[in-house]
Amino acid sequence: VQKSIFSKIIDGEIPCHKIAENEFAFSFLDVSPATKGHALVVSKLPGPSLHDLSADALAGTMQLVQQVAAQIQRTLHPDGINVLQNNGGAAGQTVFHFHVHIIPRWSGDQALSFWKPLTFDAAELAQLAEQLRIA
Ligand code: 5GP
Repeated sequence: VQKSIFSKIIDGEIPCHKIAENEFAFSFLDVSPATKGHALVVSKLPGPSLHDLSADALAGTMQLVQQVAAQIQRTLHPDGINVLQNNGGAAGQTVFHFHVHIIPRWSGDQALSFWKPLTFDAAELAQLAEQLRIA
């Protein structure tokens, strides 16, 4: 099986600027950061997306996300922090090995742009929520 670039980083075959690790995840600086301090937290098991992680792996990965966010907050004192996670090419995922972005933000940095809100009527929302509840 072809190893992902993140598995190669975790195994030390490709260099990175490591920040932290725990049993389930490994964290390092993003090579093309949106802002100074943009970090990734990568699951040690190489499932491609959110759908592939066990509850334990997800919990352990998110614990490291919280820890690294605190390390960034203490060190860089950003005004805010975005935590982002992409699943699938349509969602902007380019490395198909589960990872979470931690992006420190400063007021007015314009580092990210988000969605234009759509409008659905109440009946559509009720039907959609019902579909999701039973799925
Ligand atoms: P995605 O778009 O899949 O959510 O994000 C992948 C991220 O991984 C990108 O932000 C990209 O800059 C980062 N990345 C890709 N290859 C490497 C690498 O070899 N080293 C590091 N440190 N980051 C990488």
